[in-house]
Amino acid sequence: MGDESVFDELKEECGVFGIIGHPDAARLTYYGLHALQHRGQESAGMVATGGTGFRYHRSMGLVHEVFNGEILKGLVGDTAIGHVRYSTSGESLLTNAQPLVFHHGAVGQLALATNGNLINADRLKKELESRGAVFHTTSDTEVIAHLIVQSGASCLEEAVIEALNQLVGAYALLILTNDQLLVAQDPHGLRPLSMGMLGDSYVFSSETCAFDVIGAEPLRTVEPGELLILDLKGKEELRSLPFAEPAPRAVCSFEYIYFARPDSDIDGINVHAARKRLGGELYREAPVEADVVTGVPDSSTSAAIGFAEAAGIPYELGLIKNRYVARTFIQPSQHLREQGVKMKLSAVRKVVEGKRVVIIDDSLVRGTTSRRIVRMLKEAGAREVHVRISSPPVRHSCFYGIDTSDRTQLIAAQHSVEEIREIIGADSLSFLSEEGLIRAVGRTPEQGNCGHCLACFNGKYPTAIEEELPQVAEGKSR
Ligand code: AMP
Ligand code: SF4
Repeated sequence: MGDESVFDELKEECGVFGIIGHPDAARLTYYGLHALQHRGQESAGMVATGGTGFRYHRSMGLVHEVFNGEILKGLVGDTAIGHVRYSTSGESLLTNAQPLVFHHGAVGQLALATNGNLINADRLKKELESRGAVFHTTSDTEVIAHLIVQSGASCLEEAVIEALNQLVGAYALLILTNDQLLVAQDPHGLRPLSMGMLGDSYVFSSETCAFDVIGAEPLRTVEPGELLILDLKGKEELRSLPFAEPAPRAVCSFEYIYFARPDSDIDGINVHAARKRLGGELYREAPVEADVVTGVPDSSTSAAIGFAEAAGIPYELGLIKNRYVARTFIQPSQHLREQGVKMKLSAVRKVVEGKRVVIIDDSLVRGTTSRRIVRMLKEAGAREVHVRISSPPVRHSCFYGIDTSDRTQLIAAQHSVEEIREIIGADSLSFLSEEGLIRAVGRTPEQGNCGHCLACFNGKYPTAIEEELPQVAEGKSR
C-alpha cells in the first residue's frame, strides 16, 4: 500500500451535536448541525430516541439537503445526536455517514458520532476481525462500536471505558442508547467539544457557535479524558468519570488558526479574537511597508484585520469570494483544486491597482492558494505583493483528523521559505513563529506549549504514532 492510499484512509474531520431531554430535539439538532456545516459538507445524519427505539436519517449532502420538515417530524424523541462529515478521498460513501447505528443482542441499539481520527484503527480492526467482527464501513467509529459490543464488561459504561482505553488518537465522541447518552473526549483533548445548557437540557457540540444559534448557554469544555454519562429517563444527574490517566493537553492549533468558526470559543478563547491577535503578532514579527492589507476570505479576515490594526495600514477587501463554490480542499485532484481557486476568488482591481499589497492567509499547506492569489493580485495591477501567513510552516502530516495532507505535498516540508516565496511569486513571504502563535492564542500556561498540539508544525505528536503508522517510522511521510 503506497502512502497515498494510507493517507486517503486517514482523512476524516467532522462536527458532532447532541441534546438530551428536549421536546424539539430533532429540530434543535438540525440547527446545531447547520451551524457546524463548515466542519463537514459531505454527509449529515441524526439519530433520535424517546427511550423506546431509534429513529434515524443519514444522507450525502449539506444539512439542508439531507433534512426537510417531514424527515425531522419523523425523528421522534426528546434526545438526539447528529453529525456532519467531511472527507477528501474515495471514502465518499453513504455507509460511512454518521451517526453509525448498531443493533446488538446484549447492548441493544447503539448510535455513535465522532469527530477525530484514530491512529491505531487498523490494528484494532484486524484484532477485532480475528475475533469475528464484520465491518460494514471504513470509518474509525465502527472500530469503537465493535470494541464496545465485544467487551465482556457487565454494563455499558464499563464497556465504553474499556473501549476508550484502547484508542490512540483524537476523538470527540457521542454515544446514544435508548437509556443513556455518553460523551467522551480523548485524553489530550485534541478536538474541541463543549457542553451547554438549554433550559433544563444538556447540549453538546463540537463548537460553541451551535449554542448561540439555538439560544443555549455554554457551560464548559468536555475535559480531556472525561466521560460524561447522562440518563435519558432523568433518574440521575449528569455524571463525570475520568476514564484515562491525565495526559498533557494538546488542543489542535489549527482549530484556532483555520478550522473553527470565528464566533466559537475554544476553552473560553474566542476564535475571531485569537485570529486577530495572530495577525497582530505576525506584523510585529514580520513588518512590511505597504499601502493596503487584505485577507484571503473568509478564514483569514480576522487575522488580516489584526495585522492591519497593528501596522496602521488600511484593511481593504482586495479579494472577493464567491460563496457558492465549496472549499478548495474538497476538490479531489490538484488540477480541479486549482480550477476551484480560480472559480472561488476574484481580486478587486480598484483596491489593489498600483498598490503595495499585504495579503494575509491563515495557512500555507500545498501552496496552491497563495500561488494563485499572488498571480491574481499582480494581474489586477498590484505593484508589490507581500504574503504573510498567520501560522508556522506546515511541515508534518496531521494524523488527528485535519486534512493537512501527505508530507510529500506539503510545500514547506520540501522547500525553504525563500524557495516558497519564489514558487508563489511573492515579493516577500513570512510565517508566524510557533512562539508567536502560542502567545497570540493566549491559552494559560498549562504546559510549555500552553496545551497546544503543534505537531504539523514541529513533528512532536502528542500521542504515540510510530508503532501504529510504520510509514511514519520509516520517515516517508512525516
Ligand atoms: P494550500 O492552498 O494547499 O496552501 O492551503 C492553504 C489554504 O487552504 C489556506 O487558504 C487555508 O485557509 C486553507 N486550508 C488550510 N487547511 C485546510 C484544511 N484542512 N481544509 C481545507 N482548507 C484548508
Ligand atoms: Fe491540529 Fe496540526 Fe495537531 Fe493535526 S497535527 S491536530 S492539524 S495541530
